[in-house]
Amino acid sequence: MTLFNPKNENFDHLDPESKEIMTKTIAFFENRGKKKLKSDYHNRIWYDDFIEFLKQNQIFATLLTPSKYASGNKNARWDTRRICDFNEILGFYNLSHWYTWQVSILGLGPIWMSSNEPIKHTTAQLLKDGHIFAFGLSEKTHGADLYASDMSLTPLGDGHYVADGGKYYIGNANKAGIVSTFGKNSETDAYVFFAVNPEHENYDLVQNVVDWEGYVAEYALSGYPVTDADILSTGQDAWDSALNTINVGKFNLGWAAIGICTHAFYEGLNHAANRNLYGKWVTEFPHIQQMFVDAYTRLTAMRLFSQRAADYFRSASKDDRRYLLYNPMVKMKVPSQGETVINLLWDVIAARGFEKDVYFEMAATDIRALPKLEGTVHVNMALIIKFMANYFFNPGKFAEIPRRDDAACDEFLFHQGPTKGLGKIQFHDFNIAYNSVDLPNVTLFKEQIKLLQEMLLKATPDKHQAGNMDFLLYLGEMFTLVAYGQLIIEKYTMDHFDEDLLEQIFDFMIRDFSAYALNLYSKTDTSDIQMAYCRKIIKKPITNKERFSRIWETHVLALKDTYEMNP
Ligand SMILES: Cc1cc2nc3c(=O)[nH]c(=O)nc-3n(C[C@H](O)[C@H](O)[C@H](O)COP(=O)(O)OP(=O)(O)OC[C@H]3O[C@@H](n4cnc5c(N)ncnc54)[C@H](O)[C@@H]3O)c2cc1C
Repeated sequence: MTLFNPKNENFDHLDPESKEIMTKTIAFFENRGKKKLKSDYHNRIWYDDFIEFLKQNQIFATLLTPSKYASGNKNARWDTRRICDFNEILGFYNLSHWYTWQVSILGLGPIWMSSNEPIKHTTAQLLKDGHIFAFGLSEKTHGADLYASDMSLTPLGDGHYVADGGKYYIGNANKAGIVSTFGKNSETDAYVFFAVNPEHENYDLVQNVVDWEGYVAEYALSGYPVTDADILSTGQDAWDSALNTINVGKFNLGWAAIGICTHAFYEGLNHAANRNLYGKWVTEFPHIQQMFVDAYTRLTAMRLFSQRAADYFRSASKDDRRYLLYNPMVKMKVPSQGETVINLLWDVIAARGFEKDVYFEMAATDIRALPKLEGTVHVNMALIIKFMANYFFNPGKFAEIPRRDDAACDEFLFHQGPTKGLGKIQFHDFNIAYNSVDLPNVTLFKEQIKLLQEMLLKATPDKHQAGNMDFLLYLGEMFTLVAYGQLIIEKYTMDHFDEDLLEQIFDFMIRDFSAYALNLYSKTDTSDIQMAYCRKIIKKPITNKERFSRIWETHVLALKDTYEMNP
């Protein structure tokens, strides 16, 4: 099955207890129904019923407690495979419900990464008691510039401190069991992560900065007392745990986008396939078919890539840090593709997409958030570009990573170690995947890759270009496409899905590669020789009307009326 469908997904890749969590969660949303989903969304009602459901079923306690701290719950473990499933379900139904889960994951990151053992046991108990968590990193005036954090922790001696400062954009900070708060020691300037209790009288919940069902808080600490028992990490460890937590959390954004787009896809298709204009079904118009095929292939590519990236994430180790490329792609590339999917579907569903009783209205708004949260597209692109030289020109040798659906606790995620040395990370040779298939569009795409590599060697960006993010963005987009296609082909080889689908995916990949080349061509700084390469990279995919029709009939139209949320 290429797309998630709550009505027939059986989660056969999961153990019985995990399967039950997924099916119960689907049942929660379906029994609650679309009418309540939409009225709570419009009235910005905080989701107490959902949090109570999570508590009654021990869902966060089971999915978000590493086995080591899971006394009495044999099914508790941090298992990225099922975390992806849960993300997809929540994105499918409501991003605000996903958000309370997402920021709990972020809030738990610095705790599970900490060497403060007592607080980890307290946290495991808080999870059992049904608490949610929060991650207090961002500040109002500093954006991505974490070096500038102003939250201060002043030592008073004898393991006592006092915290002062404000945090902004902090999800769940209204109700969290613990708000993991990032700041600096006011005497040494060293970074520090400490646990904060929002019930304390010196904790001021200033406001919800958004008008939404979720709570994205501004909070202030004034003379808030902290002791050594509340300290999660200090110095380099605190810095690393901030970035390593984001490495874990950012993976979820791609999965939320996949969930959103999948639900919107069913709504768009059902609407168009049941609407008759001028004596024709809307789905008979050729441009509508093209939009659906594009939306479908982009969405399946988002899912295939993210599934394969999860294999690398779960298999990561100190000697295999390839996930540091694939995770920002799941964060940045996949949600950006999600925006494209929603744009395509919105042109089809048109006016109906604005109506108050459809999921689409939420999807159209919410999809915009994902590329911008947990670091913007630019911040993630700046990160990805560091990997480009080794990826293209200095591959390493690695044992093949198998599909990782096993019920393991992904312990390494809490021991990722220092966050530096990104430029030294190696990747396996992308040619292995690309040379493993012999299909027309994949072959054409390989020509585009070759030209890009040649351009990088013969017209290497000069010092000025290498420091100009505006120039690098499109180069980064082309590089990202190569790694995107590589993991999709790996998935094709593992899963043996339909070769028509792979070819149709590479149809849009070639068009995207060409569009990025045109953008790079048009940049102020691009040299003549680089422009000549860009022109050569622009190619038209090899069209095949029969293949297109097969995808349209058997993959897309076949999904008509297969899912509709309960009223
Ligand atoms: C709904 C919502 C929920 C949130 N939840 C949380 C939360 O729970 N906890 C938390 O800590 N934060 C949270 N945030 C904060 C959020 O993740 C970040 O602030 C956001 O990713 C960065 O947005 P910004 O406006 O601060 O961008 P800024 O950092 O101010 O960036 C401004 C512009 O400069 C660009 N830029 C900045 N730095 C670089 C760089 N190094 N390279 C290239 N370009 C750069 C950006 O791409 C952007 O275009 C939340 C934000 C929102 C809106």
